[in-house]
Amino acid sequence: MRYEMGVSILTRFHFSLPLPRATARKRIFHFCPPIACRSSMDQSSGLNLEDLKWDHSFVRELPGDPRRDSFPREVLHACYTQVSPSVQVHNPQLVAFSQPVADLLDLDHKEFQRPDFPLFFSGATPLVGALPYAQCYGGHQFGMWAGQLGDGRAMTLGEILNSNSERWELQLKGAGKTPYSRFADGLAVLRSSVREFLCSEAMHHLGIPTTRALSLVTTGNLVTRDMFYDGNPKEEPGAIVCRVAQSFLRFGSYQIHASRSDEDLGLVRVLADYAIRHHFPHIQNMSKSDSLSFCTGDEDHSVVDLTSNKYAAWVVEIAERTASLIARWQGVGFTHGVLNTDNMSILGLTIDYGPFGFLDAFDPKFTPNTTDLPGRRYCFANQPDIGLWNIAQFTTTLQAAHLINEKEANYAMERYGTRFMDDYQVTMTKKLGLPKYNKQMINKLLSNMAVDKVDYTNFFRTLSNVKADINIPDDELLVPLKSVLLDIGKERKEAWTSWLKAYIHEVSTSGIPDDERKISMDSVNPKYILRNYLCQTAIDAAEIGDFGEVRSLLKLVEHPYDEQPGMEKYARLPPAWAYRPGVCMLSCSS
Ligand code: AMP
Ligand code: MG
Repeated sequence: MRYEMGVSILTRFHFSLPLPRATARKRIFHFCPPIACRSSMDQSSGLNLEDLKWDHSFVRELPGDPRRDSFPREVLHACYTQVSPSVQVHNPQLVAFSQPVADLLDLDHKEFQRPDFPLFFSGATPLVGALPYAQCYGGHQFGMWAGQLGDGRAMTLGEILNSNSERWELQLKGAGKTPYSRFADGLAVLRSSVREFLCSEAMHHLGIPTTRALSLVTTGNLVTRDMFYDGNPKEEPGAIVCRVAQSFLRFGSYQIHASRSDEDLGLVRVLADYAIRHHFPHIQNMSKSDSLSFCTGDEDHSVVDLTSNKYAAWVVEIAERTASLIARWQGVGFTHGVLNTDNMSILGLTIDYGPFGFLDAFDPKFTPNTTDLPGRRYCFANQPDIGLWNIAQFTTTLQAAHLINEKEANYAMERYGTRFMDDYQVTMTKKLGLPKYNKQMINKLLSNMAVDKVDYTNFFRTLSNVKADINIPDDELLVPLKSVLLDIGKERKEAWTSWLKAYIHEVSTSGIPDDERKISMDSVNPKYILRNYLCQTAIDAAEIGDFGEVRSLLKLVEHPYDEQPGMEKYARLPPAWAYRPGVCMLSCSS
């Protein structure tokens, strides 16, 4: 079984959806006070920056580029190039930092108040113990092999081992050119950095695997960007996010070596061994007694034995993690926007936040990426299929390097499908508070939502207020959903009433009390998501030096499932201005 685009996972499952009916600034002034540690609860007694425990396994164990300059070039026979940040700064400022990420690194919160913190985390002053490098990787972009890409504006500072012996890689995004920058400047703007900083943390607190963000600093200098690629470049404030993940290895980190000579093909195995050793130790330690054999379902009744080939076990786990990740995205209405294979983490993390967007009105064809508009390859409803397409590219790479055979590759793809279906069904069943999965009911709901352009987040959050009482008269059924079923005519009211009747009947069979069902539904249906217009408000303020809204939003998204008294305005639908390009849709220009 080779995977082909067009054989939709979603149609195989239950999610074939009808389409909706209608189808110059000067230098920045900073007037934010330094971030204070607010309460004794917030105080930590962690490490100083100078005492972080660095351990550079990537540089130590993998072949690197002998050159250390940043001249743009093809880098062969190497997984990385050691480079130094070169970004120019002028009075850089700390915009915000994430306390939970600081805790992952055992870093004392007081360190963020140091006057030299923005210098370290812009890359302007080298951090003691760091060993910066840019990773070499390639990728398929919009379905086409794009050759070498690599960290063109991200630089890993190194890995830190925390007191739990966890390995965390720190990476500065926007710290200057590397050999992988091609024709671009190696820099990042505040607009996209605010988005990446906030969304990384928002996704984590939604319970979705993601790279994290430690800090966001401005560089104090301006960067030129043609935001819509329409020949109207503007100057924007520069900024740098410090991203944190156990590893930033991507599918493309492997693809690049398989695309080259036989000498480089061997690096696929070297890099797979590295990843398994450090990030999949349970696979490294797997033994025959673990007995992981599976029938392939082929006519010859052959068996895939995952204990006899660690690379097969590894790719199956990556396929499953990816499927599970994408099922969770669908659950909260997250659309990544640029699901190229260089933006697919081997750890199953959400990675590389560019023109992402959460659904407001439910629209399966929604893409937040203007570059994606012609074909909508990366639209919300296509994400599960694209995940599989990307896994197929990854398995092809491992096959080319003779790490897995065709049966094992097919098995990984099969497991992707099964895992996606299982997780997606569980997610939707929980979102609706149903006693068991009901394909027809979920289908009908999603098609109703698409027709009436119902807000994806607010609908599910409000649905938990419906009482499981089959005696409610028809003309009162829609009352609890009044705030989310806006402007619907008589005919549509009938469609919704009919769905709600069936729904109430279904949930009433569970015997679960209304208040219990509400608690359970509210724990999976967020009240607060990082809507693009909220980000934009924070960006507008930050661009004139007021970082208060970025910090408020960070606190808000740390508790997305909680009612937060006084914060209800952040759950409102987007205002009219939010539908202009640049807010609800973005290009890859960042
Ligand atoms: P992305 O769309 O962020 O996933 O980036 C795709 C590729 O373009 C990666 O190799 C990036 O490192 C590179 N890239 C994007 N923006 C820049 C930039 N401003 N300077 C250098 N490289 C960049
Ligand atoms: Mg990328």
